[in-house]
Amino acid sequence: MPEAVIVTVTGASGYIALHVIAQLLDDGHAVRGTLRDMSRAEPLRAALSRQTEISNLTFVQADLTSDVGWDAAMAGSDFVMHVASPVPIVEPKDYDELIAPARDGTLRVMEAAAKAGVKRVVMTSSNAAVNSGHGGKSSFTEADWSVLGDGTGAYASSKTIAERAAWDFVAGLPDDQVMELVAINPCVVLGPLIDPDGSASIELIRKLVAREVPGCPNLGFTIVDVRDVAAAHVTAMTAPHAAGHRYLCTAEFRWVREIAQTLNQSVGQRGYPVSTRRLPDWLMRCVGVFDPAVRRFIPHLGERQDFDNNAIRRDLNWKPRPVEDSIVHTAESLIALGVV
Ligand code: NAP
Repeated sequence: MPEAVIVTVTGASGYIALHVIAQLLDDGHAVRGTLRDMSRAEPLRAALSRQTEISNLTFVQADLTSDVGWDAAMAGSDFVMHVASPVPIVEPKDYDELIAPARDGTLRVMEAAAKAGVKRVVMTSSNAAVNSGHGGKSSFTEADWSVLGDGTGAYASSKTIAERAAWDFVAGLPDDQVMELVAINPCVVLGPLIDPDGSASIELIRKLVAREVPGCPNLGFTIVDVRDVAAAHVTAMTAPHAAGHRYLCTAEFRWVREIAQTLNQSVGQRGYPVSTRRLPDWLMRCVGVFDPAVRRFIPHLGERQDFDNNAIRRDLNWKPRPVEDSIVHTAESLIALGVV
């Protein structure tokens, strides 16, 4: 039997990474996941074993902020999924809290991967590396890059700087040391959790279902399903035409009120009613004075942005599922895992 392809997945404890790992294992690959805290290994093995067969899964310790462990993480690997990066619920005042691990961690991953002879790195970037700091511009393609400076927060800055660092790194490799790079740039990721420790992106659904918010702010997001994001990573790992490209990985836009209505028609009928009351913008502005988690959204009240997903559909033969499934399945898994 041919030996399994070895894929290193950074940040193996994360919401998206766990789906990437599950799909890689399903496809028969050997997965080496990096964790900064090895005490997570056993609970994660237990969670993944409820999804798939995990005999080809190992974990190694590596932190984006340290050189230790990255050579061991990459040794013998064919491909790398670089998913790890800090994803905060509240933006820190000091941008470097996010930029330093995102940028320096990416460079640690890229250097160790190139040294180990990895063929291709698939990096989880973000639409935050595309759409921030453009003023009133409302539609975006992969040709757009977020503009650093006023109006671009710490998270968007960290993702933009880290993705640029990765592209600069591969462009600077000597001719005899070829390593390919693909960036996947998802928007707001929803869908079922494999482990109860979810991402900041599912906070809106958690807060609505837990009735921690009194209604729906005049905000909207372009959504994509975590299973479809993982599938894009797995296809991008080997798709011949993907090398050297970044791909917006986005499905459809929904206002928060539409999300709440979808929740009400599903889990709302099963004992988890969700408020669909509209929260006026003035109220959001008042709350934002005191609550930094609300403040970061104030500039985006009433804003709608659109993202072109033609490239990923064409090159990766990618087709997103309806976002209503992603919304409902997020809520159902939060309930099933006892998070709400
Ligand atoms: P998540 O669940 O919070 O996962 C983040 C992962 O990064 C965790 O495994 C975390 O490890 C790891 N990490 C953070 N700081 C680290 C450090 N210093 N050293 C090593 N690992 C570190 O978030 P996620 O939503 O899955 O995000 C995964 C990736 O997708 C990120 O690159 C994020 O920017 C990108 N993304 C997410 C979304 C979204 O809506 N969720 C959208 C676009 C892009 P610990 O468990 O130890 O904290």
